[in-house]
Amino acid sequence: MVFGSEKFLASLPDQIRDATLFSVEVIANLNQAMSRIKITPPDIILLQASLNASTELCCWLKDETKLSSIYCILFEDRLELISQRNCEWDLEMTSTALKQGADAYIWQIPEEKRDRNSAFSANNRLILAQLMVGSRKVQKYRDLIKKNDVLSAIALADSLTQMNNRRALDLDLPRQIQKARNQNNPLNLIILDVDFFKQINDTYGHLVGDRILQLLSARLRNNLRFQDTAFRYGGEEFVIILPNTTGEKALLVARRLNSIVNQELFTINNQLTINVTISLGIASLRDGDDDDGISTLDRADKSLLLAKVTGRNRVISSDYLSHMSHLQVVSS
Ligand code: GH3
Ligand code: MG
Ligand code: MG
Repeated sequence: MVFGSEKFLASLPDQIRDATLFSVEVIANLNQAMSRIKITPPDIILLQASLNASTELCCWLKDETKLSSIYCILFEDRLELISQRNCEWDLEMTSTALKQGADAYIWQIPEEKRDRNSAFSANNRLILAQLMVGSRKVQKYRDLIKKNDVLSAIALADSLTQMNNRRALDLDLPRQIQKARNQNNPLNLIILDVDFFKQINDTYGHLVGDRILQLLSARLRNNLRFQDTAFRYGGEEFVIILPNTTGEKALLVARRLNSIVNQELFTINNQLTINVTISLGIASLRDGDDDDGISTLDRADKSLLLAKVTGRNRVISSDYLSHMSHLQVVSS
């Protein structure tokens, strides 16, 4: 992007004006430039120093985390400054520009001096070299972001089931709670645990146990609504966040999950199919709950415990436990 006038664009080397390897957009209005950058951030911005807003644009870019990697080259075209140019002045102006957010500061050779000044071609070479530095930096930054995305995905995924792991839950739950509170929406949590899983391991071996966890994860994933997120919380326990969901609706979701597990056997191979059931506890986010979700999770866990002691293969909601005089046990 060129932040400057058409006349300024015309003063730039041909390789920029007539570029074929990249596209050049010229904008001279600050608000227009900002909204354009937000929508399609350019790799490099060339700024015309005589536009007052150039400094503001540089500062803004460096303050915006997502845009701070854009390489800003500030072109000094203010004749009154160029005429005062000497070594000390040069250093002073360069350090000011860098402090204000520019990544490079280049003096323009005034138009009238261009024809006879051999410095003109040297200046053009410097401009093109700075463009190369900019594109190298942007490419490196992109590679880093890509690697970072891969590493984050690995750090947040459970290697056995490919589900989000406990670390992902620790990051996501406070965010979801914050969002629910900001938007005044209900939020529910389900904790579910495989019934008698130790027995499955003891009877068929750990590898079969592992396979059950993989099949269960796939079954849960395939039966969740798009807005719900499931996490492997620990061994054979899973947590599901249900944003924008009332307690009543969460109960329906949990019942459905209970059925999709217990109504179809888990096929390990041609010879072996296993009947698996799960117990589920639900809790709704309450006003007094902490922002990290610990108290909400704790209530869901207590409901799960109750589902276990009252017979397993069932759903219990903490809403019903505290708001009703008797226990509402919902078995499938
Ligand atoms: P309950 O119905 O009360 O939940 O009984 P349970 O047997 O499921 O509960 P318990 O906590 O006694 O057993 C859980 C078992 O899950 C024990 C542990 O060895 C097993 N487990 C935890 N993680 C894994 C895993 O990744 N793979 C396999 N195969 N087993 C696991
Ligand atoms: Mg269990
Ligand atoms: Mg367990």
